[in-house]
Amino acid sequence: MDLTFIPFNKPYLSGNEIDYIRQAVEKGKISGNGYFTQKCQEFFCRQYGFKKSLLTTSCTDALEMSALLLDIKPGDEIIVPSYTFVSTALAFVRQGAKIIFADSRADHPGIDEQKIEELITPRTRAIVPVHYAGVACDMDALGLLAKKYNLVIIEDAAQAIESYYNSIPLGSIGNLGCFSFHETKNIQCGEGGMLAINDSSYIKRSEIIWEKGTNRAEFFRGEVNKYGWVDIGSSFLPSEINAAFLFSQIEFINQIQERRLQIWDLYRERLNTLPSFSNVRLPFIPDYATNNAHMFYLITGSLDERTGLIQHLKSKNILSVFHYQSLHKSSYYEPFYDGKELPMCDLYTDRLLRLPLFPELTNDQVNMICDEITNYYRS
Ligand SMILES: *Cc1c(COP(=O)(O)O)cnc(C)c1O
Repeated sequence: MDLTFIPFNKPYLSGNEIDYIRQAVEKGKISGNGYFTQKCQEFFCRQYGFKKSLLTTSCTDALEMSALLLDIKPGDEIIVPSYTFVSTALAFVRQGAKIIFADSRADHPGIDEQKIEELITPRTRAIVPVHYAGVACDMDALGLLAKKYNLVIIEDAAQAIESYYNSIPLGSIGNLGCFSFHETKNIQCGEGGMLAINDSSYIKRSEIIWEKGTNRAEFFRGEVNKYGWVDIGSSFLPSEINAAFLFSQIEFINQIQERRLQIWDLYRERLNTLPSFSNVRLPFIPDYATNNAHMFYLITGSLDERTGLIQHLKSKNILSVFHYQSLHKSSYYEPFYDGKELPMCDLYTDRLLRLPLFPELTNDQVNMICDEITNYYRS
């Protein structure tokens, strides 16, 4: 392996993963909802104020659980940004929902809150805001719409652990919040996720849907004397092996965040003058939002310019990557789409570029990446 090669991502490891997994194995209960699952869920509820937290095997699963909890049926409409990961829409499409795609903001890839009201119809059931790069959507604006039209808000907080909207933790504001612990996220267990339940009317059923439509969780708490099939559901819970891995990361969340923020700030500082001699825009963070340093991105002047920059960095052994291809133009959904233009989603599809960001990245490496970006635009 070329030691000078800088990958886009390198999953964080605390060093305690194997030890905790061994403990999970030695406890003799390796299936889900055991000691480490409880430890993780207790941490998340305490730290972020969720009414209930359920670990899942992915954020996709947490979104699918949300669709089941809402009893989404064919004909229901769900408002989703088009510039997002497939799962934000897929979880609802599986229940037969019609996806109504919304455009992104001009100053930020998040959903444009001003363009949502015109999309609401009597069939609209929910809005699924995505906190892109861990930067909050305007949750007050969304809350007003939800109240006026009686809609549910499901936060896709996959990238938003340890990030806040006006000091309120993301994932704790909507009726439901969905997180990812995929290896590309700030804390990770390879594949993993969590459903945060903030609306208490969903609590009882969430546990049942989580455990294959049975009231097994109630049974284990001794609240009923037998358990059986009581509702729909699936197997959404991860094994204790995954939960043990995740818990070893949770314990280092402050250190992870501190280092990620240092790297993010160094990028910001070193690239500060770039917009004065190029068409590049740097990330924008609204006053109501915090930065959890999930991602550092550039918005280049054009698709060709981005392709050139990716090539230039690659020639210097630096891996930078573009992000979503807007879902309204995906080969799966385009045939169902009404054709409405979403110009901001197209812009981010063509021009957004993500730079390497992971705790092991050194300041020297960040400086080198910034030098190479500057060279590209100066030449
Ligand atoms: C990562 C991600 C997901 C999917 O998470 P998984 O845990 O891989 O299912 C969904 N939405 C967004 C915005 C993401 O970034």
